[in-house]
Amino acid sequence: MIKPLNAFDLKNKRVLLRVDFNVPIEGDRVVDDFRIKQTLPTIKFCLESGAKLIIMSHMGRPMGRYDNNFSLMAAGESLADLLEMPIKFSSDCISEDSRDVTLGLKSGEIHLLENLRFHSGESANDPEFCAELARHGDIFINDAFGTAHRSHASNVGIAKHFSHKGIGFLIEKELNFLSKIISKPPRPLTLLLGGAKIDSKIDLIDYFIGVADNILIGGGMAFTLLTAKGFEVGNSLVDQSKISIATELIEKAKAKNNLMLPKDSICARSLDPTKAKKAYHVSKMPKNMTGLDIGPKTTEFFSSIINQSKTVIWNGPLGMFENKDFCEGTLKLAECLAQNTEKGLISIAGGGDTASALRNFNLENKMSHLSTGGGASIELLSGKTLPALFALEV
Ligand code: AMP
Repeated sequence: MIKPLNAFDLKNKRVLLRVDFNVPIEGDRVVDDFRIKQTLPTIKFCLESGAKLIIMSHMGRPMGRYDNNFSLMAAGESLADLLEMPIKFSSDCISEDSRDVTLGLKSGEIHLLENLRFHSGESANDPEFCAELARHGDIFINDAFGTAHRSHASNVGIAKHFSHKGIGFLIEKELNFLSKIISKPPRPLTLLLGGAKIDSKIDLIDYFIGVADNILIGGGMAFTLLTAKGFEVGNSLVDQSKISIATELIEKAKAKNNLMLPKDSICARSLDPTKAKKAYHVSKMPKNMTGLDIGPKTTEFFSSIINQSKTVIWNGPLGMFENKDFCEGTLKLAECLAQNTEKGLISIAGGGDTASALRNFNLENKMSHLSTGGGASIELLSGKTLPALFALEV
């Protein structure tokens, strides 16, 4: 059993809260506070319940060394602004000074620890680092869904130092959507995938061939599958090392007839907007061109399947959406999902690029659920146990 936050008596307790404040920073400012805002219900509940709150997070990949570019100071300022209250900050997460700040906390106060990944022990799940970190709290609460698929010190190793441990509201909400979908999805169930890299999504495709009614694949990753089917895709993105596994997936899906690839692609010779782009059928892609978005026939075909679906899980843009010349397919399908969600479709979107595409299109609030964890949501949906959740079982 994993305990939810509201099962604990938090009054005057030191609550050590793991969050995901891995937010984009420009200069010394947070440019997108989505992840910070998502943790506010948990933070406010702790403060209102009289806890002394110690917050910890990672940011970026500083490789176990202090690096000013990855400081959590800006995230702390953003949190202080959102809560309209001062926050204590320690420049090292396990120093004696940081422990003194924690011990001096009063009920209703917050102490934010500096980036956990400034210590190599965090990613290595080092037992000594876990023990040092654990000294900050009486109760351990994990609300960092974005890292729940990693076995790190602050979310896995630390847990064995606590008899009082559980999940915050954000993880609880993610589990409510994602686990329910795994167990009993309203059907037809459709998986919509895109993005550049196929390797991180192979297990997901494999699992969903067994459970989904439709699997729609666009984005750069579709070209590896199209190549495995014998199409020549010009200069488009193909992961040669994954052709044989792609062939196996196509074979496996034949019995179910549920794996659908693009019919056409918007191709260009370069990303230069003055150069012509054109839609080609996937059997007629010129050798010297690159497929950078799904074409209109694919958009129409994928939309018709979404229109008939009761649940759609979406991960990854259908084209190079950052460039306005190649965002059309992603935009049209996001709009289709938004319209169907209004009529009762359960739409679950996940992954950093999917979230930023939705934000670019002003549709981020139009999905039933926008997951804060790309990798974690993929692993959970692939039927795997997330190590950070397993560590919290009591
Ligand atoms: P991923 O991290 O694998 O989800 O990939 C996300 C990235 O895939 C985004 O930055 C998109 O620009 C990129 N992408 C989507 N479609 C294509 C494509 N056809 N060719 C190259 N990159 C693409």
